[in-house]
Amino acid sequence: MLDVGSFTSAAGIWRRGDEMDRQVRFPIPAYVIETAEERILVDTGLHPGAAEDAARHYGSDALGMFELELDASVDQRIDLSTITKVVMTHLHFDHAGGLALLPASVPIIIQRREWVAGHDPAAVKKNFFLMADYRTVDEQIVLVDGDHDLLDDGSIQLLLTPGHTPGHQSVRIGERLVLGGDVTHFASGLDDHRFPAFADDFRAQAESADRLRALRDAGAVVRPGHDPEVLVPGPVTL
Ligand SMILES: [Zn+2]
Repeated sequence: MLDVGSFTSAAGIWRRGDEMDRQVRFPIPAYVIETAEERILVDTGLHPGAAEDAARHYGSDALGMFELELDASVDQRIDLSTITKVVMTHLHFDHAGGLALLPASVPIIIQRREWVAGHDPAAVKKNFFLMADYRTVDEQIVLVDGDHDLLDDGSIQLLLTPGHTPGHQSVRIGERLVLGGDVTHFASGLDDHRFPAFADDFRAQAESADRLRALRDAGAVVRPGHDPEVLVPGPVTL
């Protein structure tokens, strides 16, 4: 896990029932999966310009509710020229911001539903997508539909887990590790379904959480999206 930023925000926005007058710092993770032949980046964190001054970077105050902080951008953490593929869990700014930093030759794998939603004005508005994050990467996009065997050998499975956004996906690595993305921000969300205050489809999100919970109950480690207690940068140990 790479630490590619954080956002500090009212607790109650991010977990139903938490206090609105308490500020919490939420880590923003990205991951590198290394195999013999591949070096796969999962999500890309904040754009450095957004972290510095989100209103100026995006030309609007769409992120005024966040106090964005940059710990280190993804290109300071790893040499992006060594990355062979990028998997996007979804298009929110804290996952897609670093796309603009990638070399133009790197394929970016995303669910078709998410990509279509990212270009539909009503879905963009509903989901707080910021098109500046992904406007420059059209040529690199590889669309997948539903669950997908990323390397054609069963080792890495992309799991369609919609709800938080229309085409959100999670990443299953082997039998024992799942990068859940933002299906739940907190590990406890798999059980209590206390999701953030906003979602594309809460019912779909609950079904996706149940799907990941079943994998956890069968013995997998499921990494949550932004849980400050769980997400410690460095090698992920099982
Ligand atoms: Zn997120």
